[in-house]
Amino acid sequence: MPVQFETHGFSFSPGRSCVNEWIDPSFCVATEPREWTQTELSKVGTWISSMPIGLLSRVKANGFDSLFRYGHGFRKSADNIGYTRDEPGAWVWGRDKSINVSDLIFAASPLDPFGRYDFSHKTIVHEFAHAFDSGTIDDSFLELIGWRKVDGVWVLSDFDMDEVRATYKRVQKLGFEGLNEHSPQKIAEAIMLNRRYGMERGFPTAYAMTNPSECFAELLSHLIVDPTHREYLSDDILEWFSKNTFYRR
Ligand SMILES: [Zn+2]
Repeated sequence: MPVQFETHGFSFSPGRSCVNEWIDPSFCVATEPREWTQTELSKVGTWISSMPIGLLSRVKANGFDSLFRYGHGFRKSADNIGYTRDEPGAWVWGRDKSINVSDLIFAASPLDPFGRYDFSHKTIVHEFAHAFDSGTIDDSFLELIGWRKVDGVWVLSDFDMDEVRATYKRVQKLGFEGLNEHSPQKIAEAIMLNRRYGMERGFPTAYAMTNPSECFAELLSHLIVDPTHREYLSDDILEWFSKNTFYRR
């Protein structure tokens, strides 16, 4: 696989092609693998530099040391064999231990109205947080936040989960419409609702309240990119993260 760039021990390669039959050809039709431009390489390199070295080391130790560039994201198609297009800006994938970046990350990225951080920067740090956690969230985190499973579904003890999920659905709907209609106003509305709903309840976003894994990734990414996180996160949360991750208070 040709490597175009390396930084902090991470290699940046073009999106994986389908010629070696490692995956169904519909994957490449959906994702459109492509090369990195110089501007993109330096942008993502800068975002990686914003993360603590210890965090980056554990991400690599977990096997996630390569970034790939695709036009679009994907999901499994209805037949469960092939793939169909989806539009996340970035994602981690256990199948080939990859961190993947799509065109959306380099489209005009909104600034967060509260922390003034670049939304794409946050998205990349969020994906690194998933690679850092790698499915190993422990009981002390679940207990700290109040996560428990009821009939196979994750719930937050102190909150109305129907309201949380309905709110996050509205955030998603506004976001999709904003992208499809090229409406920065709708995207700004989606971000505002997501942030405000979460912050009023002690979280960075409504998304953070949907399940433990997104909760962890949203919390850790906001600890790194949002200079205002002390205004909405409890001391207990700050203390847990400084003890269990490489976040420094
Ligand atoms: Zn996530």
